[in-house]
Amino acid sequence: SWAASVVIVIVDYHTHSLASDGALSPSELLSRARASGVSKFAITDHDTTAGYLSVKDSDDARAVGLISGVELSCKWATASIHVVGLGFDALAPEMQAMIETLTAARRARASKIASRLEKAGIAGAFEGATALAGDSQIGRPHFAAWMVEAGAVGSVTEAFDKYLGAGKPGDVKMFWPSLAEVVSGITASGGIAVLAHPLKYRLTGMKLRALLNDFKASGGRAIEILNGRQTDVDSKRLLQLMESTDLIPSVGSDFHREFEYGPRLGIDVGRLPKGRYIWEALEAVL
Ligand code: AMP
Ligand code: MN
Ligand code: MN
Ligand code: MN
Repeated sequence: SWAASVVIVIVDYHTHSLASDGALSPSELLSRARASGVSKFAITDHDTTAGYLSVKDSDDARAVGLISGVELSCKWATASIHVVGLGFDALAPEMQAMIETLTAARRARASKIASRLEKAGIAGAFEGATALAGDSQIGRPHFAAWMVEAGAVGSVTEAFDKYLGAGKPGDVKMFWPSLAEVVSGITASGGIAVLAHPLKYRLTGMKLRALLNDFKASGGRAIEILNGRQTDVDSKRLLQLMESTDLIPSVGSDFHREFEYGPRLGIDVGRLPKGRYIWEALEAVL
């Protein structure tokens, strides 16, 4: 019957674990993905592959079709940009060097963020945020969580709105490598570079096109046309952008933690516009 021929494929190429700013351990994340029926999956922590490496040989990893992943931070003009890397050799020297550079950058940035917060009247942030981060790759969410804990703000949202978000004192990007450097690092390690959430940088149409041109010129090959919860207007815009630049579409929940209005893990491929997606391109590199 027709019903028997319906195959549901669920994928997710953008997720976070406790190795960066996600709430679940890498193995909890995998078992949740497995329970959600995911068959193609990547853990794309900020500037670390530690979470991926710790679970890559597990039973759940095979069940969800886990491939290598990372979300690298970089700067382009005056903007902080995120580039997702997929299907690379995690032990390639170019990738390991990139992650070492970014780990040092995050430490230096954390200290700069703390000194800026101190000038804004909030002392002790470096110790507080690094203690909360522990072995995780430190980021602004750890500062936000500490600021809530310390009573400096009432919520994580308030911490970003007042101190950590774009244009605020804690928005430090001087330590990031360039867009070209991170894209090259991914490509040299045998992976595919994906421009993450292109509409989150709040660039004008003209600047966004310039970013896409530079991304492609550096060897970038794919673009997220779906990132987490997204409006239909944004989906349409991203589809047009993708079509006008012949980049390969990628999709991901950008899952960090479960919350009421947050994205669910896994994307049903049947709900996506027809096309040739990242998983087909990945077959050639894996
Ligand atoms: P970082 O990687 O240290 O630059 O921090 C960026 C991360 O902070 C993003 O990946 C999100 O997980 C989180 N984030 C950014 N903006 C907000 C916000 N307004 N509220 C909560 N979390 C945010
Ligand atoms: Mn994050
Ligand atoms: Mn991101
Ligand atoms: Mn992300």
